[in-house]
Amino acid sequence: MKIRTCSIKFRKIKSNSDRGQLIKSIDKLLFSIIKKERGGQCEIHNSLLCDSIAPMHILAKGEHPRLRFSRQNIILAGWFCSHYWTHHNADHPKAVYAFQRIRELRGKNYKDELARTEATMPKFNMIYLKTLEMALKKQLET
Ligand SMILES: [Zn+2]
Repeated sequence: MKIRTCSIKFRKIKSNSDRGQLIKSIDKLLFSIIKKERGGQCEIHNSLLCDSIAPMHILAKGEHPRLRFSRQNIILAGWFCSHYWTHHNADHPKAVYAFQRIRELRGKNYKDELARTEATMPKFNMIYLKTLEMALKKQLET
């Protein structure tokens, strides 16, 4: 009885971490592709000089997990010039400027458009994630 419980637990933990690793791998691939496509600069300031440039999700990936891999929902932004402020203090002038730039880049109805995209996205299962990872790997090779 004890052994059985143990093996079920182990399997569950293992599959969660597989999923987590796959999501991290897709995050990385997508970052490489977006960097290649858009030039790698902070899109808020149109500058390569901004510090720690990385993908910033316009609608937070915690609250909108189905938009995590949506290019429309990803802006390349410096952490200290923009990303940090949009996360921690949306009223700060740096965050206000970042949101203004997002409106310029994505259109003023960007939230509605993202919500429409979100509604069409499936919940990610392992097959979806593995297929997406494979497709992105192929795309990065070409
Ligand atoms: Zn910047």
